[in-house]
Amino acid sequence: MKFDDFPTKTLMEITTRPPLVFIRGEGSWLWDHEGRRYLDFVQGWAVNCLGHCPEVITKALAEQSRKLITPSPAFYNEPSMQLARRIVEHSFFQRVFFTNSGAEANEGAIKLARKWGALNKGGAYEIITFEDSFHGRTLATMSASGKPEFHELFEPKVPGFPKAKPNDLASVERLITDRTVAVMLEPIQGETGVIIATDGFMRNLRELTRSRGLLLIVDEIQTGVGRTGKLWGYEHSGIEPDIMTLGKGLGGGVPLAALVAKEQVSCFEPGDQGGTFNGNPLMAAVGCAIMDVILARGFLDRVEERGAYLMKSLSALSASHDLGEVRGRGLLVALDLKREFAPKVVELARDDGLLLNAPRPNLLRFMPALNLSTEETDTMLAMLEDVLRQVKESVP
Ligand SMILES: *Cc1c(COP(=O)(O)O)cnc(C)c1O
Repeated sequence: MKFDDFPTKTLMEITTRPPLVFIRGEGSWLWDHEGRRYLDFVQGWAVNCLGHCPEVITKALAEQSRKLITPSPAFYNEPSMQLARRIVEHSFFQRVFFTNSGAEANEGAIKLARKWGALNKGGAYEIITFEDSFHGRTLATMSASGKPEFHELFEPKVPGFPKAKPNDLASVERLITDRTVAVMLEPIQGETGVIIATDGFMRNLRELTRSRGLLLIVDEIQTGVGRTGKLWGYEHSGIEPDIMTLGKGLGGGVPLAALVAKEQVSCFEPGDQGGTFNGNPLMAAVGCAIMDVILARGFLDRVEERGAYLMKSLSALSASHDLGEVRGRGLLVALDLKREFAPKVVELARDDGLLLNAPRPNLLRFMPALNLSTEETDTMLAMLEDVLRQVKESVP
């Protein structure tokens, strides 16, 4: 089929999409409507942690779909409890509420913190978030986000999200009042360009929130489930948050996310929270299969090794092409191009069969499958080097 024959105008244009229709995926590779192959370092936006269509997922979907797709969240189902158990057994948390998207998990975290504030802190409801942060696209999570592009949109926003500066404890402290109930942050700001909250900042923030009786919420939707080489991103700093949200990699490609909390914070009462598809066994069964792979002995060590190899190789590329900093953790990595031609690099790379992401005009982000091969990394680097040569010729 030709691109123009697809009914593209039937979809709302929520973003500028390239004239490609992806038909099939396998591991680190995607195929478009013309049968062209692409090496995928975007992976559904850091979602397909085991690559495209891994057998563990197709098998879990097939098996569970023959057993039970959903009995409604008003009844217990086994896969949701099995997945919740895997999460709590490998974290500091005791309670899980499953959702269908990351934004919905963060909405839940915001509601839980507000409820906790109503019960324990005289109705305190403000949640301090950070400039340039990204927490989702519902009205409340857009309000919580510090993305400058969101400032003017869909006014009036949901009130109660004062913004501090990343890695600046004093800026957090200045915003604390009697109305404050929590601080919420990404251990690594992914959408902004892989900005790492330093381990020292995370520890000081935990200290500060604890001493002021505030909850600490980590949005691990991008950093959780092995992406940074540890199971959860907060582990790098050794802190113990009160609430964590998960998404993206948790379902490995299917819509699955979670709100995870400590027992003493889990204060929802019947009627406060719910959702038709939440915790459905079909998605939860996939989550269980994904977690079993991620938790298998040695898997996370390999993610760390692959990440270190990617960063080392990108640093060499950066040095030989006079580019900037390489930063990241595990397989969430960014390369500063020092010049604002990242969108051009993404476009030319795509023409050559390589999918990359440019979160900023000067920045490339790499978020490949956690199980990619060294050969795939090397192929990506060779293709990227070739594209950089082309760009330098076209943009002097
Ligand atoms: C992707 C993302 C979200 C939103 O998740 P959706 O599933 O798109 O709603 C929230 N927070 C962070 C840190 C993310 O990376």
